[in-house]
Amino acid sequence: MFDYMVVGAGFAGSVLAERLAADGGKRVLVVDRRPHIAGNAYDHYDDAGILVHRYGPHIFHTNSREVFDYLSRFTEWRPYEHRVLASVDGQLVPIPINLNTINQLYGLELSSFDLEKFFQSVAEPRETLRTSEDVVVSKVGRELYEKFFRNYTRKQWGLDPSELDASVTARVPTRTNRDDRYFTDTYQAMPLHGYTRMFERMLSHPNISVMLNADYRDVEGVIPYREMVYTGPIDEFFEMRFGTLPYRSLRFQHETHATPVFQPAPVVNHPNEQAYTRVTEFKYLTGQEHPKTSVVYEFPCDEGDPYYPVPRPENAEIYRAYKALADETEGVHFVGRLATYRYYNMDQVVAQALTTYARICGHKAAPARSGGGGRRASAAATP
Ligand code: FAD
Ligand code: UDP
Repeated sequence: MFDYMVVGAGFAGSVLAERLAADGGKRVLVVDRRPHIAGNAYDHYDDAGILVHRYGPHIFHTNSREVFDYLSRFTEWRPYEHRVLASVDGQLVPIPINLNTINQLYGLELSSFDLEKFFQSVAEPRETLRTSEDVVVSKVGRELYEKFFRNYTRKQWGLDPSELDASVTARVPTRTNRDDRYFTDTYQAMPLHGYTRMFERMLSHPNISVMLNADYRDVEGVIPYREMVYTGPIDEFFEMRFGTLPYRSLRFQHETHATPVFQPAPVVNHPNEQAYTRVTEFKYLTGQEHPKTSVVYEFPCDEGDPYYPVPRPENAEIYRAYKALADETEGVHFVGRLATYRYYNMDQVVAQALTTYARICGHKAAPARSGGGGRRASAAATP
């Protein structure tokens, strides 16, 4: 008998499994339908012996000391500040847009002060910043919006920025100084030996069993457990009762090149001309030395593994219906990017999982259960 069945071995599931086992003394079974742990943060050595991220570039950054300290129990770190170039008008310029971006793009020598005035002259003021278009156009005007954001966003999401919540493009700031870092968080570092190694250490506890290549629906009827932590897509859990929640997917094209360096930056964004959004060269992220180099191209698509919840009002409404059902479902805790339908970074998922653990600690255990159908059927009837 397990105390907990944890569905998903990504950040949400692994943090909860670790806390429940190591702090709570619970017996935990972690189930993942993929053939590996670490969820989307999974990294591995490819055929050339280069450490790559199977599901696209994962750069760790956080302002939370608690999150950083917690993960530091399972890994050492390599300091790393991420930088990105955008391919625009035949040039490679820094993104987030900063003073150097504008000077290089237009062949100018503006000061920060001049740039502030320039932005003010081109910005289209908006009363409320409701959409992802509003956020950018109200800051840097239409021309820069079209060069850097409009097409990238249409490609990435299959939607115009005017159809997406402001929070999406608000992830990328605009600067009038020369700071060309992608993130400005207090803690910015990569796990020294990779994410997968860090997850191995989180999950290597005598109270934790891990079952891979297993959908929980195939095992829940045969393996008895008391409570569940669910980190998969929330609509799938409730068998699409209120319709499907859109999750945007990606096709990853991994390549190895027989040259030590492929491109001049860790990530190059391609907003306009290409079908892919960005190209990542992993050795910049990991610091690995190798005579060859491996890169990944990201091609956004609708079909495939769910990677991104799509932040827009109609989806939030569907999610609210599922959330209400989830709140009534006793003995199941919904955590993570897919289960709470939030466009969360890794550190936010860790914080959410730690908060969930604290909440669980205040709860008393539910009665034992083993049959899957019973749990879901009783969920709707629970007041
Ligand atoms: P996941 O990692 O998706 O884990 C959920 C797991 O549940 C999966 O492994 C899945 O197989 C399993 N599962 C689902 N359903 C079932 C089922 N029925 N039975 C069994 N198992 C199931 N964050 C950052 O902080 N920095 C970055 O640079 C960054 N880059 C990113 C780049 C890309 C391309 C993507 C897609 C995401 C990126 N993220 C980044 C976000 C990061 O991946 C997530 O915040 C984090 O991985 C979410 O963890 P999770 O545990 O919620 O979900
Ligand atoms: N974005 C853009 N152009 C860029 C970079 C980002 O239009 O060069 C927009 C796009 O909508 C993207 C969002 O900003 O989805 C968030 O970018 P981020 O780099 O945070 O995306 P992620 O790493 O989560 O895929």
